[in-house]
Amino acid sequence: MKNENSTPRRRVAVVGAGITGPLLSLCLVRLGFEVDLYEAYMRRAQDVGSFLNLAPNGRAVLERLGLADRVLEQGTVADSIGFANHKGRELAQNPETTTNIMRGELSGALRDAATDAGAKLHTAKRLVALDATGDGCWRIGFEDGTRAEADLVLGCDGVHSTTRRLLFPDAPRAAYTEVVGSGGRSEIGAADLPVDGRFHMIFGLRGFFGYQVTSPGVVWWFENHQETRERSFAELAEVDDAQWVSLLADRHRPDPAVVRRILTASTGPVGRWPVHEVPPLETWHRGSAAVLGDAAHAVAPHLGAGAALGMEDAYELALALHEHPTAPQAFTVFEESRRDRVAAMAKQARQTGAVMTPDRWITRVIRDLMLPMAIKQGVRKGTEAYSYRPSPWPVRGD
Ligand SMILES: Cc1cc2nc3c(=O)[nH]c(=O)nc-3n(C[C@H](O)[C@H](O)[C@H](O)COP(=O)(O)OP(=O)(O)OC[C@H]3O[C@@H](n4cnc5c(N)ncnc54)[C@H](O)[C@@H]3O)c2cc1C
Repeated sequence: MKNENSTPRRRVAVVGAGITGPLLSLCLVRLGFEVDLYEAYMRRAQDVGSFLNLAPNGRAVLERLGLADRVLEQGTVADSIGFANHKGRELAQNPETTTNIMRGELSGALRDAATDAGAKLHTAKRLVALDATGDGCWRIGFEDGTRAEADLVLGCDGVHSTTRRLLFPDAPRAAYTEVVGSGGRSEIGAADLPVDGRFHMIFGLRGFFGYQVTSPGVVWWFENHQETRERSFAELAEVDDAQWVSLLADRHRPDPAVVRRILTASTGPVGRWPVHEVPPLETWHRGSAAVLGDAAHAVAPHLGAGAALGMEDAYELALALHEHPTAPQAFTVFEESRRDRVAAMAKQARQTGAVMTPDRWITRVIRDLMLPMAIKQGVRKGTEAYSYRPSPWPVRGD
């Protein structure tokens, strides 16, 4: 689908301006496509208080596009990840450099980069309908009653993707992983916890806890624990922040004291979510429409891999659309190149999740005996998982 001067520019509708969508928009605009980026929200409630850890493969995509410094400006680099058990014993260290950044900041910086490049961002536009017109285009309907048309529709609308549901009505829905995640920010005495450049992960007895001291006295933290009964986002939001933090502090009573110290020093909003994954789909495309990022393959969060996978997708799909004469050809090549990678990451994320917080004491004893080895293996696999590096960008001058 190379854009020669004689051919009209392809109109692309990208649905969802989280992480994958803005990056894809930017790549496509740089390759000569005309891009409208539609986003349901002005600002997502889910982004409040939560950060994500961007793996080196995600950073590599941003670097290849010359965006890393700009987009990650508000982030904090961790030069290693340390793992400890509930007794505080250090189990392993991953020497990978990662970046922690608030989700809202990352998404906002990517949106700004996409619009600066020439993508048109439309907020408060929730996709609700998608109809193929007879001539190979798409008519797109939004919740506010407005409509738009496009030659290609690319759904980057996340784990509960409407694009996915409209394109593949029989595809399985996102499945609850029996994990609830939370994230927040705490202020703690600067002398108590030094800025050590490390992302700390603690396998607590009844929950997994991670934190980094991002500047003197300021700590970003996240927590994942198991809850068998699914509570909706709205139901979780009914518990106020102070009560939520106090429940987490109770949950982590048997763990190293630092966990409770950080939790009880929380300031500002505390994000929390039921965590879902997308079961493998038969296909990611139909005609000239496709899904990518979490919309196609949201994986459990235990590897901290989803955002970087979405960035890889955005880069690879843009290149495929540039290289191949028709959208279905590009989508087929894209899927073939991505499926194994995504499946391997999903499997690894599930395996990691399974050893995090076992219920039975005997499993815990075995876990503690096996953990150093398992973590070392996991670190090696994680290093492999992070090893994706994007091929050179095909257009000069960007
Ligand atoms: C608890 C938890 C912790 C995580 N931690 C990490 C981590 O440390 N590192 C990491 O790499 N990943 C992490 N992830 C995964 C990561 O957040 C996702 O993989 C990543 O956000 C996917 O990006 P995306 O753009 O594909 O989807 P999203 O970021 O979900 O963006 C989708 C966008 O589409 C919009 N949208 C939805 N429906 C519509 C509609 N109908 N019309 C228009 N717009 C719509 C949404 O508002 C949103 O802006 C974590 C996930 C969870 C749940």
